[in-house]
Amino acid sequence: MPVKNRLAELHADITAWRRDFHEHPEILYETHRTAGIVAEKLQAFGCDEVVTGIGRTGVVGVIHGKSDSAGKVIGLRADMDALPIHEQTGLDYASKTDGAMHACGHDGHTAMLLGAAQYLAETRNFDGTVVLIFQPAEEGGAGAKAMCDDDLMKRWGIQEVYGMHNWPGKPVGEFAIRPGAFFAATDQFDIEIEGKGGHAAKPHETIDSTVIASHTVLALQTIASRNADPIEQIVVSVTAFETSSTAFNVIPQRVHLRGTVRTLSPDVRDLAETRLRAICEGTAATFGGTAKVDYHRGYPVMVNSEEQTEFAAGVARDVSGSCSDAPLVMGGEDFAFMLEERPGAYILIGNGDTAMVHHPEYNFNDEAIPAGCSWLAEVVERRMPAA
Ligand SMILES: [Zn+2]
Ligand SMILES: [Zn+2]
Repeated sequence: MPVKNRLAELHADITAWRRDFHEHPEILYETHRTAGIVAEKLQAFGCDEVVTGIGRTGVVGVIHGKSDSAGKVIGLRADMDALPIHEQTGLDYASKTDGAMHACGHDGHTAMLLGAAQYLAETRNFDGTVVLIFQPAEEGGAGAKAMCDDDLMKRWGIQEVYGMHNWPGKPVGEFAIRPGAFFAATDQFDIEIEGKGGHAAKPHETIDSTVIASHTVLALQTIASRNADPIEQIVVSVTAFETSSTAFNVIPQRVHLRGTVRTLSPDVRDLAETRLRAICEGTAATFGGTAKVDYHRGYPVMVNSEEQTEFAAGVARDVSGSCSDAPLVMGGEDFAFMLEERPGAYILIGNGDTAMVHHPEYNFNDEAIPAGCSWLAEVVERRMPAA
């Protein structure tokens, strides 16, 4: 069972939709144009219900199968938002919006889910209901959470959810997946270190905030190397070090540190936060200063359910001939919020030899469309087989 014929027929249409989205990227919750087109198309395909404004600018479409003997409901999710990046692809359909770009392929995800929706609305060859979920603000805005907070799962009785992301460097149209923890929890921290500023030639009359901050940056590395179990995955990165003075001859009063913590289990996440606070406050106190820590919890760990992952991998193998074991990813993915509410699976689809996502020369590979759409449609038809 390779790519579905009907979806191969629709390849040119879906590619045109994708390139139109690419040309008109919208950031975070500002996906008004995209959501409008999505809703319009879902209506035109004959969806049984189309609702806008879920999670601010999210769209939900509902398609009932030919029969509904067991009341099964599956959710398929795509993300619609772009990134604040200045596109450098030189494509004839490159972004027309300065400083916004579809650099993560969400244009492709949205177009593929629309393609699957058209096919499913035409054929309805399944026993149950599919809920098509188009979310805004995956890139740092927690759009998936906003849709869940608008009662997405309960309102449509969704029992399982599936999502997909393109993956540069993997052969186009091939799949990869893993059960359990898959994408990392992504937290951020701001640390304000306060000493006592003064003349650089009279350090004994100051409390040097740069010395405290330097010790702090190094000590924070012991969370990964000395506190977390070595078999666990954790990243602690300090990404900004800003002194309150940039003069040659001034010891600054304050230093602001900023960074990110990535973890793959709730226990390690808690440990990291606890240790980060203790290290910052303790190090500052050692040298007579103070540290104020703001720790912001971002996306949770994204965990694929065992059973649904095995099922999703089986479908992928049938569509493209292979489905490999995906590596752990220390990046974040807000589909994690949906997987916290319902069992399901998230799969990667190869984007071929392209620039990495979030790079200004990245582009979604339209050759992945037939396989991606076929996987989405097959998940519905095989999980809820027609009577
Ligand atoms: Zn991204
Ligand atoms: Zn993405």
